[in-house]
Amino acid sequence: MSDSFEVIVIGSGPAGYVCAIRCAQLGLKTAVIEQNVGSNDQPQLGGTCLNVGCIPSKALLDSSHRYAEAAGHLSDHGIGISDVTLDIASMMARKEKIVSQLTGGVSGLLKANGITVITGTATLNAGRQVAVASADGSSQTYTADHVVLAAGSEPAAIPPAPVNGDRVVDSTGALCFEAVPQRLGVIGAGVIGLELGSVWARLGAEVVMLEAMDQFLPNMDEQIAAESGKIFAKQGLDIRLGARVTGVSVSDDGVDVTYSQGDASETERFDRLIVAVGRSPRTTGLFSADSGVTVDERGFIFVNDYCATEAPGVWAVGDIVRGPMLAHKGSEEGVMVAERIHGKSAQLNYDVIPSIIYTHPEVAAVGKTEQELKAEGVDYKAGTFPFAAIGRALASGETEGMVKILSDADSDQILGAHVVGPSAADLVQQIVIAIEMAASTEDLQLMVFGHPTMSEAVHEAALAVDGRAIHMVNRPKR
Ligand code: FAD
Ligand code: AMP
Repeated sequence: MSDSFEVIVIGSGPAGYVCAIRCAQLGLKTAVIEQNVGSNDQPQLGGTCLNVGCIPSKALLDSSHRYAEAAGHLSDHGIGISDVTLDIASMMARKEKIVSQLTGGVSGLLKANGITVITGTATLNAGRQVAVASADGSSQTYTADHVVLAAGSEPAAIPPAPVNGDRVVDSTGALCFEAVPQRLGVIGAGVIGLELGSVWARLGAEVVMLEAMDQFLPNMDEQIAAESGKIFAKQGLDIRLGARVTGVSVSDDGVDVTYSQGDASETERFDRLIVAVGRSPRTTGLFSADSGVTVDERGFIFVNDYCATEAPGVWAVGDIVRGPMLAHKGSEEGVMVAERIHGKSAQLNYDVIPSIIYTHPEVAAVGKTEQELKAEGVDYKAGTFPFAAIGRALASGETEGMVKILSDADSDQILGAHVVGPSAADLVQQIVIAIEMAASTEDLQLMVFGHPTMSEAVHEAALAVDGRAIHMVNRPKR
């Protein structure tokens, strides 16, 4: 096997493997280096997303949603189910099967595209030399015209709450509890905390979420965040804001968590505790001091708008660089870098990246929030429409939440969309397409939406921007 490639990608998560496939499609001789090894001694591809992130969390969210429906919510439909049982081992086995199907799929795709997969831990040295240390202690060096760093991220830690893999776990541990904890504490009411807290709450745990910030989901549109908070509280998630965890003490009987809230100091006992306080870029040992790669003030690899680092021929994509830590953001960066390596002038519109919280109902957003537009002094119009007035939502018993659309007051161009409610992720994706096509709310107003669909809430919210929604009484416009 040759030790020289046109492109070496370090990391096989959604940023790395997508970049490698696009490089291979463009005819570049490409290798992927992955340090994760599976139980079959083969490289375990797919990164955080496929192994311990997006996919297993969604598998458990779907399973737990079905359980909660069967156990409690189907009586409205006239369906009675007696003796609903829960088999956590089977639920976990299903999740694992989905993970291995997808990671195996990535392996097949890399093979079919003629990409070389190298197992081991890579370090980038000067002159785009990549040293790969194998588990058996051996080491080999490869060179490439271009190196793409896609080493991803790992759960962030906080000193008061060290993860011990037993009572105190990170997101990875929370994806494989063998039983439902009676009382579950979650530090951090961000995306990951909300998703994992929801899984175990639906399966029967009493969940308390401790969030240091006073504001719930501060990056979301304030109106949608407030609405979501009310829905989650009704579901039984006890979300305590302004609650900063200061100490954790583990005993045979449980885990005592001390937190400050205002001037008070409180302690709560839980059976298990999930630490979900964000993620950190995985840069340790990834590059040598003379590689030319630098990091920014937050520890992310420094890149320009096109994901080029300060070292010639070295690129970085995904969670390891600035921007939202989202699989689809990393994948599209990977495609952009492959195209640039091939000499094309590809770019990524960072203003139009959707973000989704996969609770039930989902919370999803794209573009500007109302508070951002206010802060930027933009003259804007806003339209909201509640799912309670959507026939399909009523038929499905999914009436909570709303669609909100924001547009420029002069040009009418759509600037943002925010949804909490059924199929929020898919509805926001419609607005992603609209914004990319430079659509106005008038464009949406003039389009025909199928009936009865959840999408009609998008149509009505676009009409509401101009005070002309049909199925509600419009408030007078500013
Ligand atoms: P990663 O997926 O972290 O992959 C990096 C890979 O590089 C890993 O396989 C690692 O082993 C390998 N690696 C690292 N260092 C080296 C080295 N030196 N040598 C060789 N290999 C190395 N995002 C979404 O968009 N939607 C979601 O629904 C979603 N849900 C999530 C749920 C959870 C519980 C978590 C934890 C995350 C979730 N995310 C979600 C975030 C998403 O998983 C990440 O944004 C995404 O995986 C980042 O992709 P990446 O390729 O940059 O890095
Ligand atoms: P995210 O980055 O979306 O995954 O959210 C992580 C959340 O954890 C943030 O909202 C942080 O405010 C919160 N957080 C961080 N440290 C603490 C702490 N010591 N106690 C409580 N919450 C915390």
